[in-house]
Amino acid sequence: MKFPGKAIPAISLAPAAVCANAAGPVPGGLDKNGRRLAAPIASRAGFGYVRPARLLGDLAAGGLVRRRRPPVSASAAAVALLAIAAVSFGFPAAAAECGADALGTARTLILKREYGAWGASQHTALPLRKGEVVLTFDDGPRPDTTPRVLKALADHCVKATFFMVGNNMAAFPDLARSVVRAGHSAAMHSYAHPYLGHLAPADQLADLKKTQEVYQATLGAAAPAYRFPMLAETPTLMAALQAQHIAVFSIDVGIGDWEADVTTGVLAARLAENLKAAGGGIVLMHDAYGPLADALPVLLKLLKDGGYQVVHLEWEGAKDPD
Ligand SMILES: [Zn+2]
Repeated sequence: MKFPGKAIPAISLAPAAVCANAAGPVPGGLDKNGRRLAAPIASRAGFGYVRPARLLGDLAAGGLVRRRRPPVSASAAAVALLAIAAVSFGFPAAAAECGADALGTARTLILKREYGAWGASQHTALPLRKGEVVLTFDDGPRPDTTPRVLKALADHCVKATFFMVGNNMAAFPDLARSVVRAGHSAAMHSYAHPYLGHLAPADQLADLKKTQEVYQATLGAAAPAYRFPMLAETPTLMAALQAQHIAVFSIDVGIGDWEADVTTGVLAARLAENLKAAGGGIVLMHDAYGPLADALPVLLKLLKDGGYQVVHLEWEGAKDPD
């Protein structure tokens, strides 16, 4: 499949649209006009698709990130040493039921339930080999799109991690449980998808607590990880997550799949180009929006054809919801 390498259009970097599900469980699409655009970190990040040099230069200028490490590089040994304390390498996933054309899941990376900050755009790269990707989906679960995402993943025998929004978990608990029962891992993505930096510290902590409560009530376990809406991390919540031994997840690659009118071809071109630049890593997508649900079968085939290997994240003590 051929994708035009230079056909990526300019996109809005409106931070509220990075993950535009702030309105909660009621479908509303992207609000490009009425939402505040006051998230300087996310705006600069432009995680619709990552331009590493510019991104990290801008973020680093704010003193908020460490320098990017490529997923595989001369520093890989150091990363691996760091990771030994945090993770253990798992086992190849059974793929016998998958056809030769299926992408499959190459291995599972089992993480301890402890604090860590992962994703080279803001933190440390996961201990992945060149060409390995971790697929993550934010903002769900949503009944109009998440089932299509689950089907596409099942068709390719691929396991992923879903960073769920609390109010969607509350509205669609059976769907949240079906994600985990399908073998995927789950984590938190706030309760109401606010720009947390605009909230008072007490309100940030209240949003986290509410998210943890609905996660526990829905999935029967404590949430192991958290991704900030718009990737806009706050000192208050970073400290709280660290104190509670909850991992923070940023990203390595984004494709701007939250845009309302983005096409499958554009998303495929972005994925191909950004993965080529990054070499692999944590890929941010969203199971709450139609364009990604439409495109995912093509994107998974692209990963297969490109020789990428899917790594599934799990946490120690994970279990299916009752
Ligand atoms: Zn989001």
